Amino acid sequence: MNDLLPQDAHLWELFENTAQSVVQAYGFQQIRTPIVEETRLFARAIGAVTDIVEKEMYSFTDSMNGDQLTLRPEGTAGVVRSVIEHNLVYEGPKRLWYKGQMFRHERPQRGRYRQFHQFGCEAVGFTGPDVDAEMIMMCRRLWDDLGLDKIRLELNSIGDASERAAHRVELIKYFEAHADQLDAEAQRRLHSNPLRILDTKNPAMQELVTNAPKLLDYLGEASLAHFNGVQKILNHNNIPFKINPRLVRGLDYYNRTVFEWVTDELGAQGTVCAGGRYDPLIETFGGKPTPAVGFAMGIERLVELMKTAGEPAPGNQCDVYLVHQGEAAQLQAFVLGERLRDAGLDVVMHCAAPTGAGSFKSQMKKADGSGASFAVIIGEDEVANHTANVKAMRDEAGESQQSTVPFDGVVDFIVDHITDGGEEHHHFHVHDENCKH
Ligand code: ATP
Ligand code: MG
Repeated sequence: MNDLLPQDAHLWELFENTAQSVVQAYGFQQIRTPIVEETRLFARAIGAVTDIVEKEMYSFTDSMNGDQLTLRPEGTAGVVRSVIEHNLVYEGPKRLWYKGQMFRHERPQRGRYRQFHQFGCEAVGFTGPDVDAEMIMMCRRLWDDLGLDKIRLELNSIGDASERAAHRVELIKYFEAHADQLDAEAQRRLHSNPLRILDTKNPAMQELVTNAPKLLDYLGEASLAHFNGVQKILNHNNIPFKINPRLVRGLDYYNRTVFEWVTDELGAQGTVCAGGRYDPLIETFGGKPTPAVGFAMGIERLVELMKTAGEPAPGNQCDVYLVHQGEAAQLQAFVLGERLRDAGLDVVMHCAAPTGAGSFKSQMKKADGSGASFAVIIGEDEVANHTANVKAMRDEAGESQQSTVPFDGVVDFIVDHITDGGEEHHHFHVHDENCKH
């Protein structure tokens, strides 16, 4: 479980803000569900014979009343519970998104943590392949907006329950005929969840699983039509993908469309986003039959990928750094700071230590380190003359340009110079963006 430190925070914010505005552009609305749910919710929703439920859940007994509780290992189960509990699809289908911490007791390694974060979407109440394609295109747009071009799409259909049952019989026969090549985990899975054997990461079993009976060959007409429908929309919109017949999901409740976005840039943990349809789940939970499709992306892995793609310059801590000397100047600086913030600027005010604010020189060093575009300096003279000294910190010529500005004109002066362009005014623009949404 990791701390998120300030030096990485701007990447997380960039990811989360971009993801949020992309999915909002497709009509998705946020949902927040509790981090703790009843254990049986996950056991049922995810399926008993899965890595997560078998060995990865943080479960505990509530010492106050004996309730069996679990820290959520994924987001879909909670969203589905909430959709049913609040009858969210009463008025029709809903497009939902969430983000937050997930917990899985796994062996920690690169790209795999015990507390991690997912950003996910669930489209609930949609039957057709159009929403599947829409979700995939939405991911594509997010990668584009983040400047991530080394992510590829793998697609498959795992059909419906009856098709999987027919395939399963043949799959078990096949693996039984090659029992000597199965590792311990595969042997354990052989009769409980043989489909998951196809997902093995054991290099020694790759040839065996490549030649195994393919679920795609067992799809009936309706499943095939759905799968073709997804592909048609993707092709029409020039979204490249590879059909991976061995792609299955770790969770039991998926049917038909499954997809993963994968990168080679992150080593073994290369799946940055995984999704698929789970039409049967909501009915299983006592809701009205409600088809649904969703995906979840791992934020840690995507932030890692953003770093390999060339870290954008960290956002300035502020637009303006306020330097002051003496009690009267400090009071003026407070007034000015509020006015600048009223105008949408980010302002850091120099903190007076118990012994005073320190020399101008040491304050200017702090101003420089803050990354501010402007330092505003107020000393005794400025207080007496009702002025302030405004210094452009990121002057192109490298020269320090200093102007004495009437106190009441400082905000306009800075806003004019910042919107004139020519310099990097990262912060101000970020503000603009936020206003737009
Ligand atoms: P994996 O094959 O990597 O174990 P999974 O099938 O368990 O993945 P999902 O449950 O589909 O993963 O979760 C969706 C995404 O969440 C993953 O593709 C990955 O990006 C991220 N993720 C899953 N588990 C972790 C973890 N322990 N730490 C960090 N990210 C994770
Ligand atoms: Mg896993």
